[in-house]
Amino acid sequence: MAGIDMLTKRFYSYSKMYSQELREQSFVDWPFREECNCTPEKMAKAGFVHCPSQNEPDVACCFFCLIELEGWEPDDDPWSEHVKRYPNCGFLTMKKDFTELTVGEFYLMEQERLKVYHRKVCHKKMAYFRDDIDHTLEALKSLGFTE
Ligand SMILES: [Zn+2]
Repeated sequence: MAGIDMLTKRFYSYSKMYSQELREQSFVDWPFREECNCTPEKMAKAGFVHCPSQNEPDVACCFFCLIELEGWEPDDDPWSEHVKRYPNCGFLTMKKDFTELTVGEFYLMEQERLKVYHRKVCHKKMAYFRDDIDHTLEALKSLGFTE
């Protein structure tokens, strides 16, 4: 799972990933190319950007809802996998092609994308904060304090 720095980096760099062509170009080292469901074209059509790491070469991330999926199988259908994991993704529910959006509609999309990013960062920070509390409680217990 991506940390806060990675989420931030992705949020800013993915502002150009409304373009299906650019998303498709990100799948340079993608293992599934022919005679399967998750080709770079279909992955890009479903909103995904390839964001491999050393340990996870097949991680794909939605440029809009920032959901990360890995462990792809040739038969996986990218659009249905995306719907299964995050049916409310603003990209999936977009009624038009990106090139047909008005400036106002694009502004609303970007506002929604920003909200998703903030929600994810807040969840991460809350999780870190909970871990800190747990560590502090452990430390106090080891010093003999009781709850
Ligand atoms: Zn999404």
